[in-house]
Amino acid sequence: MKTLIVYAHPEPESLNGSLKDLAVATLTGAGHEVRVSDLYAMNWKAAADAADYGPHASKPLNVALDSGRAFEAGALTPDVRAEQEKLLWADTIIFQFPLWWYTMPAILKGWVDRVFTYRFAYGVGEHSATKYGERYGEGTLAGRRALLSVTAGGPERHYTARGINGPIDDLLFPIQHGILYYPGIEVLPPFVLYGIDRITDEDYADAAKAWEQRLLTLESTDPIPFRRQNFGDYEIPSLNLKEGLEPVGRTGFGLHVRG
Ligand SMILES: Cc1cc2nc3c(=O)[nH]c(=O)nc-3n(C[C@H](O)[C@H](O)[C@H](O)COP(=O)(O)OP(=O)(O)OC[C@H]3O[C@@H](n4cnc5c(N)ncnc54)[C@H](O)[C@@H]3O)c2cc1C
Repeated sequence: MKTLIVYAHPEPESLNGSLKDLAVATLTGAGHEVRVSDLYAMNWKAAADAADYGPHASKPLNVALDSGRAFEAGALTPDVRAEQEKLLWADTIIFQFPLWWYTMPAILKGWVDRVFTYRFAYGVGEHSATKYGERYGEGTLAGRRALLSVTAGGPERHYTARGINGPIDDLLFPIQHGILYYPGIEVLPPFVLYGIDRITDEDYADAAKAWEQRLLTLESTDPIPFRRQNFGDYEIPSLNLKEGLEPVGRTGFGLHVRG
């Protein structure tokens, strides 16, 4: 595998830092190639703005269209071009981050905002009355697989179907479906460590073992079976799921998962 690890934690000696280091050691030890984008160490600029698009920035600024023009002209800033190149190089992408306010840290969201530009990650393919682009199962990043490795302070029971924080699959849906599946990346079931703020060394040893196991079985892990946009499950142009395809009683985000 050619694995890109996108890592977002400000403290190298954090638990997230340890999990990232363990992933690098485990994957390289198994003969895989690994590259790391350590966003805090890179001092990653999180805010998308006119400076990202140079002479392609219009007035008033149009982030989507300007980013697409700059992308097509090869004129995005070097930091963004480098990340796009890493994504195209990789066949596997691991995101390592703590759950902050129910989602990824802002620096990682800013990485997505700036790297997943128009014409690269969205606005790809034919848009017409019969086709709404190549996305959700197709797109620039098709053929790649991604995995979220997330640590959460809350205990697992708070993230179950009736748990007060909401089901973890729902919380991660905007990232897994809205960001990763959108440009075509298949998404593996996430690796989530719960109740992580007060762990013992024994807990850590168990967590590290489980993480190594996930890493060593990435190639044989089935992705989440999200429904593909252009393969019959959705009405076009409404892009609503066709009546009757959902399992009885299934509602919400789960509608977009087969089976
Ligand atoms: C802004 C903010 C928002 C948050 N929002 C949420 C939220 O919405 N939902 C939620 O559930 N939680 C939330 N949290 C909690 C957060 O998810 C956890 O604090 C975070 O996941 C812990 O990861 P860490 O890498 O920072 O851990 P650390 O603080 O680095 O470590 C956690 C524990 O692991 C131990 N440890 C670390 N490395 C090792 C090692 N190598 N060996 C043995 N032990 C080790 C540490 O001693 C510590 O006890 C939030 C926290 C913040 C700061």
